[in-house]
Amino acid sequence: MKVRRAKLVCTLGPACDTEGGLGQLIEAGMDVARFNFSHGTHEEHGGRFERLRVASEAKKKPVAALQDLCGPKIRTGVFPARYQLPTGAEVTLVEGEESKDERVIPIQYEGLAGDVRVSDRILFDDGRIGLLVVGIEGDRVKATVTQGGEMRNHVGVHLPSKTMRVGALTEKDKEDLNFGLSLGVDYVALSFVRRAEDIALVREICNEWGRPVPIIAKIETPDAVENLESVIAASDGVMVARGDLGVEFPPERVPVIQRQILGVARRVRRPVIVATEMLQSMTKSPRPTRAEASDVANAVYSGTDALMLSGETATGDFPFVSAEMMSRIAMEAEGSPFYEPVPYATRATSVAEAIARGAVNTAKEIGAKYLVAFTESGSSAMNVSLARPHVPIIAFSPSPQARRVMALYWGVIPREMPQVNDTDRLVDWCSADLMGAGLAGPGERVVIVFGAPIGVRGTTNTIRVHVIR
Ligand code: PEP
Repeated sequence: MKVRRAKLVCTLGPACDTEGGLGQLIEAGMDVARFNFSHGTHEEHGGRFERLRVASEAKKKPVAALQDLCGPKIRTGVFPARYQLPTGAEVTLVEGEESKDERVIPIQYEGLAGDVRVSDRILFDDGRIGLLVVGIEGDRVKATVTQGGEMRNHVGVHLPSKTMRVGALTEKDKEDLNFGLSLGVDYVALSFVRRAEDIALVREICNEWGRPVPIIAKIETPDAVENLESVIAASDGVMVARGDLGVEFPPERVPVIQRQILGVARRVRRPVIVATEMLQSMTKSPRPTRAEASDVANAVYSGTDALMLSGETATGDFPFVSAEMMSRIAMEAEGSPFYEPVPYATRATSVAEAIARGAVNTAKEIGAKYLVAFTESGSSAMNVSLARPHVPIIAFSPSPQARRVMALYWGVIPREMPQVNDTDRLVDWCSADLMGAGLAGPGERVVIVFGAPIGVRGTTNTIRVHVIR
């Protein structure tokens, strides 16, 4: 069986929104569906969520639902109409919602003049318009336009984040998170994370709900890059959010920071999603550029756990072709002689990590067909995934939620198992299941990782070699 190891995160939107469309996306390779709460109403997301669950059931493939919270994005207010802001113009920025004067720009941020400094760079609309602060007069910020462009209502504003006092979770984020948790999302991602405490705020709300959902830190601010180790360690996974990262940093820094994030994530053992503009041209074209194909392949070669599509699947003209293409590029890279999966670091004292490492080595030495994990929460499967085996990992769990969470894990194929607590019976059942599904034949070996007694979370302590019969 040829399987893709790197997982595929697809952003949902009007381009793929029907039950049939979501089914097609699953067939094309979607492992994780991203609900982008920067757009859309609760009603729209709720409908999408229900359709995703139906499509996933129909396709018999667990798909994780990842809720992406917009975080503290600052925006301009409104103007009477769109207008051209010329390079070299002198403008005034004020705190507010509305302006009738083209040279007075309202910013929806309380205490604006207190938080910016002369010589700060301010960017509008994903960096398309650039300003330089030249003076501060009371509550008015004077600036020169260094890169002109078209001004519209409510465009995003990038202030130098060092001095920003805005909270990590806005009221909208809190409402969205409560809504997502009530739906039953499997992952929550937070945008514009600056420090470890930001992740703790989300975790607190999840815990209050009694739903300890894994949290993904989106790395896109200079503060997050500066606090990389602590931010990643506080999270359960990390996203290289190259869109906003590329606004905050010059383009040449983005690939370097991507490598840096991958390096730290390997050290602190958190899966990584590389995101944004991976197949951007496919929003309008059925074929990617050669550079995009190389970008996807290089992310795979550098060891990422997952790859993400944004506008390509949410609003593009070729959502299913984009997902198929990303899957094909990843598989081609993984099947090439240049692909050498490198294990994540392990902690010297962890029994579960040592077991995972031992199982991977055993599987290699005896030529096993699969690594198998019996897992309650998915943590044994995560440990085996991070040990980067050369063979697929089949992770059996009785919990539907754990199966969906594992859909993000590199190399893991989640499968249902009954609640059986007798190890010998479970191994026999697993053997029959693999044969019944055509995944393995008599005489083939599998290396099984589990915790004895079965059914207790976090007890991975056993490696067992089984010959299929
Ligand atoms: C990004 O900035 O790259 C990103 C993934 O976040 P968003 O799509 O919310 O801007």
